[in-house]
Amino acid sequence: AKSKGENKCIYYTSSMNANLSEQIIIEKDLRHAINRNEFLLYYQPQLDLSNNQIVGLEALIRWQHPNLQLMAPDKFMKVAEETELIIPIGEWVLRTACNQMNFLKTKGYPCRLSVNLSSIQFLQDNLVDMVQDVITESGIDPNNLVLEVTESTLVENLDVTVDQLKRLKSIGVQIALDDFGTLYSSLNYLKHFPIDIIKIDKSFVRNSASDKRDIEILKTIIRLGKNLKLKVLAEGIETKNQLEMLKALDCEEGQGYLFSRPLAMEEFIKNLYTVGNG
Ligand code: C2E
Ligand code: CA
Ligand code: CA
Ligand code: CA
Repeated sequence: AKSKGENKCIYYTSSMNANLSEQIIIEKDLRHAINRNEFLLYYQPQLDLSNNQIVGLEALIRWQHPNLQLMAPDKFMKVAEETELIIPIGEWVLRTACNQMNFLKTKGYPCRLSVNLSSIQFLQDNLVDMVQDVITESGIDPNNLVLEVTESTLVENLDVTVDQLKRLKSIGVQIALDDFGTLYSSLNYLKHFPIDIIKIDKSFVRNSASDKRDIEILKTIIRLGKNLKLKVLAEGIETKNQLEMLKALDCEEGQGYLFSRPLAMEEFIKNLYTVGNG
């Protein structure tokens, strides 16, 4: 029994060390990742549920460190925000995504682009100027650009954020409220912030084919959105049953693995051609 215990102990220690050294690498190398060209953008389509047409793409960042597996944002976003590296990274994301979308437009696929903004970016005085510059340089139609913010972003710096969002609206971009429903005072935000789209959090979609309470919540959010003339998009659609329920509830748009995982732009274009021709 003793040797078993020792084995266990060694096992946990080495995996903890692995996590620890990964964390150290992340903290040490994140600041170089832009210059070393290690970030990638994946895109996930957003569909009109009434006809299955792609109406938008959400850009989602990935980091390919040379010595680590491809990383999703949950691995490095906290460090990026704490070190404020999210400011240059966020600018890189916006610029790269707008340029890639404009390329797609030249191929005949004009479509909405959604980019996530971190609360830290709202503390930048020149956020709006930066967004305006990227729009001008890339040639993207500002009305095709959707900036996604979460409820916690809105809570964290209430006054600054309202002001920044109003200025962003004035340059013509759309605002989506991400992860909608996960905080208490959501309804307040709909009243005070210039929101265009609400994205229903995937936690409500997960059991939407079976859980009566989740279905009631979805029904309420969808009706609320319609009454306020907001677009409503459901996130995290993974099954046909979830899709059918959302369509029955008259949800306008959706996004999720059922339609597509996030894909690199080249893969996305390849898929488009197969879908388009097939
Ligand atoms: P989010 O904005 O809520 O993005 C949706 C997340 O759900 C993505 O994870 C996406 O891959 C995942 N997802 C999509 N469809 C499904 C599905 O059917 N089922 C499930 N279970 N998940 C699905 P990802 O790419 O790992 O991004 C995680 C979060 O990181 C994002 O959540 C967003 O908050 C943040 N993030 C991603 N890219 C950026 C960025 O460029 N800037 C900032 N500030 N945050 C970003
Ligand atoms: Ca998002
Ligand atoms: Ca979300
Ligand atoms: Ca999120």
